[in-house]
Amino acid sequence: MHRSGFVALVGRPNVGKSTLLNSIVGEKIAIVSSKPQTTRTAIRAILTRDESQLIFIDTPGLHKPRHELGSSMIRAARAALRETDIVCFIVEAFCKPGPGDRHIASLLQEAAGQVILVVNKIDLATPEQLASNNVLYRGLFPFAGCFALSALRKEGLAPLLDALAERLPEGPRYYPPEMVTDQPERFIAAEIIREKIIHLTREEIPHAIAVVIEQISPREGRDLIDLRAEIFVERESQAGIIIGKGGLLLKKAGSAARREIEVLFGGQVYLDLRVKVKRGWRNRERMLRELGYKEP
Ligand code: GDP
Ligand code: MG
Repeated sequence: MHRSGFVALVGRPNVGKSTLLNSIVGEKIAIVSSKPQTTRTAIRAILTRDESQLIFIDTPGLHKPRHELGSSMIRAARAALRETDIVCFIVEAFCKPGPGDRHIASLLQEAAGQVILVVNKIDLATPEQLASNNVLYRGLFPFAGCFALSALRKEGLAPLLDALAERLPEGPRYYPPEMVTDQPERFIAAEIIREKIIHLTREEIPHAIAVVIEQISPREGRDLIDLRAEIFVERESQAGIIIGKGGLLLKKAGSAARREIEVLFGGQVYLDLRVKVKRGWRNRERMLRELGYKEP
């Protein structure tokens, strides 16, 4: 008998949802950073096993939105709650439930299917912390199961995956077995560039940028792909910061991104990055749709 279905990963920003998604499929599908609200859309990754296919949906962290982009992110996360067979609520082992966790626990009532508690980052918790926080988290909701793991170190994943596969309904393979994501390469490339800029910047900058791939074309007569990307910021001052002194920051982000994009495309890439000011793009409906941050 073959089982298949959809599993949503939800939780506060920064608890490790995207890291878990990548660890599960063993490839970098979703970008990761230590800054909250890095994930902006629902991202799918597919795990095909002999007798099951699990489709994971990484969601933007549930937080209090302050602009239209934030509201779209919340909508995407809440839709995932309602549209999946299983919801994994991810929390951090080293800290007690906070107001953010309690708020999400109240939203879990919207979940269509079973809800599993995943206590992540056990590598950062003492055994005492893990034991006492576990009890507190379990009190937040009638969870159908509870698993403790380290997404970063890939420890404790197997029991979770087995339990998820067992709980899925009988169903077909929705995707071919070699497929690990349905995200287009174009989107992943833009996300990789965004991740590198997030890593090199602070405060409001990571939230104020968006990246669009304007052009992908093979260079004539050469085994090389030309890739032109535009980086949107909200203000001139932010453009200055991203470009950096003598263009240094942009160069650094560009070469880190290029290395990963070359792995993605399996060949040499020439990356051309340009920075553009788009005032208030996070509140502009059309921009959000063009960027894929909002349903058309
Ligand atoms: P998200 O916002 O929930 O998607 O969180 P991310 O996956 O972007 O991770 C946020 C931060 O937590 C990153 O710096 C990750 O490297 C880190 N992280 C995620 N899982 C673990 C873990 O199991 N252990 C440790 N030590 N760090 C983790
Ligand atoms: Mg994320």
